[in-house]
Amino acid sequence: MPFTTSVPLGSCEISVVVPAFNEGRNIESLAERLIPVLDEVATSWEIVFVDDGSRDDTLARIRALSARDRRVRGLAFSRNFGKEIAIAAGLDHAGGRAVVIMDADLQHPPEVVRDFVARWRDGHMVVYGVRNDRGSDGVLRRKLTESFYRLFAAAGETPLPPGAGDFRLLDRKAVDALRSMGERARFSKGLYAWIGFRSVGVPFDVAERAEGVSKFTFRRLFSFAFDGITSFSTAPLRIWTWIGAVISVFAILSAAFFLVRTAILGVDVPGYASLIVSVMFFSGIQLISLGVLGEYIGRIFAEVKRRPLYIVDESVGFTEAAPEIARPVLVRRPA
Ligand code: UDP
Ligand code: MG
Repeated sequence: MPFTTSVPLGSCEISVVVPAFNEGRNIESLAERLIPVLDEVATSWEIVFVDDGSRDDTLARIRALSARDRRVRGLAFSRNFGKEIAIAAGLDHAGGRAVVIMDADLQHPPEVVRDFVARWRDGHMVVYGVRNDRGSDGVLRRKLTESFYRLFAAAGETPLPPGAGDFRLLDRKAVDALRSMGERARFSKGLYAWIGFRSVGVPFDVAERAEGVSKFTFRRLFSFAFDGITSFSTAPLRIWTWIGAVISVFAILSAAFFLVRTAILGVDVPGYASLIVSVMFFSGIQLISLGVLGEYIGRIFAEVKRRPLYIVDESVGFTEAAPEIARPVLVRRPA
């Protein structure tokens, strides 16, 4: 990552990072419910909204909130970079000794943060919310999600705690560990599991989205799932060795069979159908395996370009710092 922020440690106790994409109608109701909880559980706190290139009034609402309460800050991306990257930016700019990540749409009840902080004070480095059900999602999405996690468990080297998502609290140590991972195809759930640390789950009920619609279309979820598998598993690459081996054995056996049959029964006149079918079958297999190679090479290409993860267009509330809170400075990490 070419850009990094030097955050003075302990500049506040709890930071809350909220990625927001076209969530103008939710920003205020979220703050209304979250702020009393934070006042109750933390000695000092901040809320960092990351406006992920919204086209509605999300940024204006953040500005207005920040003007009223200096502990509310915001970052606005130059375009939509995706939730995973918005979270990464939030972590880069959060100065808390613990950082809570939550959605802007009130599906993650702010009151649960109370339990998160309690478990953190008990000495847990990571406290993650465990969804009691996904009743608010459609049946198809639920089924697809389930099968993705089964596939991920089968293919991956990193086990994921079931039902855990982005709603969680991370100790500063875990935040720094996550920030040290500059990869582009960010599959946060995998990264959280990969860094380890003493973790505990807290069950919560997913609420209905307060306003607006889900930003995750099936196409987006599919590419997200693909990123997840390819960033945490090389099984799609290695599986072709096995398929190749099985097909080769089959080819040798059938060659032997035809040799013996020809020796005993002499030459017959075979049809073209079987020939054409097997040619098409094997070309298909070769194209698929080339495609899988292409996917991985594409990802390697994206990583080696070493572009910054995100571009900040505007930051709100970071420069005119409250006296007790020193603010992060953008610095360029030496190459
Ligand atoms: N989000 C984002 N960038 C995106 C898509 C979503 O920052 O490109 C945010 C969104 O504003 C919300 C959170 O990520 O705060 C979860 O998104 P959403 O509620 O649409 O997803 P779902 O709850 O359906 O999984
Ligand atoms: Mg949601």
